[in-house]
Amino acid sequence: MFGFLRNRRRQKLLAEPFPDWWDAILRRNVGHYPLLTEPERAKLRDTLRIFFAEKTWEGCGGLHLTDEIKITIAAAASLLLLGVEHDYFARVDSIIVYPDDFQTPTAEDDWEDDFLSETVAEGQAVYRGPVILSWKHVLAESRDPDLGHNVVIHEFAHQLDFLDESINGTPPLATKAEEERWAKVMTAAFAEHRRELKRRTSPTFFSEQAGDDETEFFADASEAFYCRPHDLFEEASDVYELLMGYYKVDPRRWFPKPLTRAGFRADIEFS
Ligand SMILES: [Zn+2]
Repeated sequence: MFGFLRNRRRQKLLAEPFPDWWDAILRRNVGHYPLLTEPERAKLRDTLRIFFAEKTWEGCGGLHLTDEIKITIAAAASLLLLGVEHDYFARVDSIIVYPDDFQTPTAEDDWEDDFLSETVAEGQAVYRGPVILSWKHVLAESRDPDLGHNVVIHEFAHQLDFLDESINGTPPLATKAEEERWAKVMTAAFAEHRRELKRRTSPTFFSEQAGDDETEFFADASEAFYCRPHDLFEEASDVYELLMGYYKVDPRRWFPKPLTRAGFRADIEFS
């Protein structure tokens, strides 16, 4: 019954015209948006409207949470859902937004006292909990679609990983064969990245943080897939093809042939 009501509410929402001023925000703030095909844009608009309406949004640290902020974040999260079957990140009830970098409690913190850890973050995905974001970083990265990093994509990739209730860099997959292929490709790519980090002879394509564990590797690879697709294909074509099979989109179509930017992918730390 609840599902029926929810579907009816969603249909009603999608039957209303998409506001022009929302479209203007997408064109101004979401660098990927003009690059998509019109059917992809239509799908993104539908997905982000539901996401916008159904999540609980909270501004922290003095941030006045506007519709512009919500639309921009909802659009980037919806990019991950363009090709996949999904339920709008149903496990993520709320999105918490800070104006800039923020400090959050970590597992090591003593919740009895008022001190937070020294760790400063621009994004955090909590298992069975919220996604926390820094608006300053969200906006800068969203407007620069081939920067190579996007904190919203990173944190929501973590939430896809969490869907099968294990934090291991592997989202739920349809078949045993896909699971085996995923394990083979990602284990080898992760191990190679760790070796490169140890050698440190040149900047690595994947971030330093991607060397922490498989879940960080998947989140970082997802950022590269959406934001530097040609470079990821050149760097690790098997990882690219694996993610293309999972996300069911080919972001290379969105970008003109790569102009490799100086500095490769800037190393940015998310959690
Ligand atoms: Zn992370």
